[in-house]
Amino acid sequence: MPETVVLKLCRSCNEKKQRSEYTPYKRAADGLYYDCKKCERERNRKRFRVNRTYKPSPTRVKTDLDRMKDRANDAVRFAIRSGKLKRPKKCERCLVDCIPQGHHHKGYQPKYKLDVIWLCRPCHSFIHRKD
Ligand SMILES: [Zn+2]
Ligand SMILES: [Zn+2]
Ligand SMILES: [Zn+2]
Repeated sequence: MPETVVLKLCRSCNEKKQRSEYTPYKRAADGLYYDCKKCERERNRKRFRVNRTYKPSPTRVKTDLDRMKDRANDAVRFAIRSGKLKRPKKCERCLVDCIPQGHHHKGYQPKYKLDVIWLCRPCHSFIHRKD
């Protein structure tokens, strides 16, 4: 049986790949690691990243999106203070009386920075969990 045509199913990505795509692993029944080299690499990278975040005082690197988000939220805060935006007294989604938070429903791009809908804290986190 020619070895090259035998494809092995990767347990991680569920793709059938050539045996050469797997690391030899003596303890496995077929002598190969259970997921492909690519997934193995991916997993090692993730583990490395997780370990790094458990260091004391991790400094989270801000992405461009984070910065844009901060700017958009600052703009809303500033607009409320200066009277440019009026914060309603209830959530637009569930209508509960509260001090709602501005949610950037169109995204955080500068052109939408004041385009917010007002949501109570539970509604706001619910909406963010969805996407
Ligand atoms: Zn894989
Ligand atoms: Zn609500
Ligand atoms: Zn939001």
